[in-house]
Amino acid sequence: MSRGQAKAARRLRRMHEWLERAYGPQHWWPAETPFEVVLGAYLTQNTSWRAVERSLDNLRRAGALTVEGIRRRSLPELQELIRPSGFSTRKAPALKAFVDMLYNEFEGSLEVLAAMPVEALRQRLLLLPGVGRETADAILLYALGHAIPVADEYLRRVVERHQLLGNTPGKDRKSYEALAALTREAFGRDPVPEHRHLFGEFHALVVAVGKAHCAKHPECAGCPLERDRHLNGSAGVGAGQDEKAK
Ligand code: SF4
Repeated sequence: MSRGQAKAARRLRRMHEWLERAYGPQHWWPAETPFEVVLGAYLTQNTSWRAVERSLDNLRRAGALTVEGIRRRSLPELQELIRPSGFSTRKAPALKAFVDMLYNEFEGSLEVLAAMPVEALRQRLLLLPGVGRETADAILLYALGHAIPVADEYLRRVVERHQLLGNTPGKDRKSYEALAALTREAFGRDPVPEHRHLFGEFHALVVAVGKAHCAKHPECAGCPLERDRHLNGSAGVGAGQDEKAK
C-alpha cells in the first residue's frame, strides 16, 4: 500500500468516527430475517427505501416474505406484489432466479449458501441476473454474515469530493473494487472479529450522510465530514465534480 493510500484509509477511518458521533448506531439492515435482507437488496435497486417498504408490506400481507413464499408465487403475481419498488418486470424474475438457485444448489437454505467459501459465493451471486457488486456484497454482509465491505454511489461521492483516491472513482467495476479496498484498509487495524459489524455500520452511516448532505449537490455546511475537508484542504466540491453524481 502506498503512503497516499495509507493516509486515505486513515482519513476514512476517522470519518467513520465522526459519522458515528453524529448519527449514532444505525443497526442495519432494516429487516426481520436474512431472507428479507435479500429481498430488500434486490428491491432497493434504483428506488427509495420507502418504495421498498411498500413492496415488502405487500409481500408480508400475501405471506410471501419467505423463500417458499416467493417460490410459490407465479411471476405475474410476484410482479404485482413488488410493483411499488419499480422495475418489477426485471426484479421479479431476478428474485425467482435467486430462489431457484437456492433450491437447486443449496437445499433451499441460506445457511447452506452462507457456508460456501466467500469469494466463490460472491462469484456465484454475480452470475445471477440483476445482481451487481453492490447487491452481491450487501447480501454477503447483511444477509449471510460475511465481513465484506459495501461500496455505493454515496461512498463514491464522498471519496471523490474528499479526493481520497488518486484517480477519480467512476461507476465501473474497477472503481467499485477500489472503493471496497479502501474501506477494507480503513478498518485494517481494527480487530478482525469486529469487521463485519464495522462494515455494516460504515455503509449505513455513509448512506445517512449522503442523504442528509452529500447528494447530487453537496451541502457541506454542518456536514459531519466538513472537518476532513478543512484538515486536508480537499478542493473537490466544485461545480464540475457535481455533474458526475446521480
Ligand atoms: S457534503 Fe461536503 S463535507 Fe459532507 S461528505 Fe459531502 S463533500 Fe464532504
